[in-house]
Amino acid sequence: MTSQRTRNRLIQRLRQAGIANEQVLSVMANTPRHMFVDEALGQRAYEDTALPIGHGQTISQPYTVARMTEVLLQGGPCNKVLEIGTGSGYQTAILSPLVTKVYSVERIAALQKKAQQRIRQLKLRNVSMKLSDGGWGWPEVGPFDGILAAAAPETVPPTLLEQLAQGGRLVIPIGGDKQILMLITRTDGGFEHQELEAVNFVPFLPGVLR
Ligand code: SAH
Repeated sequence: MTSQRTRNRLIQRLRQAGIANEQVLSVMANTPRHMFVDEALGQRAYEDTALPIGHGQTISQPYTVARMTEVLLQGGPCNKVLEIGTGSGYQTAILSPLVTKVYSVERIAALQKKAQQRIRQLKLRNVSMKLSDGGWGWPEVGPFDGILAAAAPETVPPTLLEQLAQGGRLVIPIGGDKQILMLITRTDGGFEHQELEAVNFVPFLPGVLR
């Protein structure tokens, strides 16, 4: 159930859903998503669906991971990327081979610890993780060429806009019951907002759970 054939079927599905970036598809074909869920859910890991990872959180749907990564990279190669909401670490593992350096923050300690172990196991060495509220960004290492959020705030956190480099791209779901995936680009004059598609993410919550 975790064979290359099963993975390739998922890639086929992503293509049909409109994912066109070959680099993204190739990384997804080579990333063992079953390692990012509990063993009991392993046989469902290559379905195009979100799955529970504990603590009321979910590993994102593969289509959503692919789409957000594709949108992030559409602006050209990314050097430094900040990810908010590490969760299982799956999106982190997809970003890692596609950008120079990934900084990923998660507010729930238990999830953060497990994700860190998986990233180490996969020998993805260009990833730094920390237990933190993504609402603060990661000012010590910013500004970022890309910021990708896997949890939805009601409005765009100004801190994240401040930590975007010139030309940088923020991909973030916004809203409560109804959410929309937004792409916000930092331009010479300010920020350009683009609404992409309806999405369904867990809420962006404040504070840290140790
Ligand atoms: N891309 C991840 C998605 C996990 S779900 C995956 O595929 O596994 C989103 C994650 O965002 C949850 O783990 C949740 O705890 C985290 N989160 C929510 N609000 C946050 C915040 N303010 N700062 C950091 N992480 C946050």
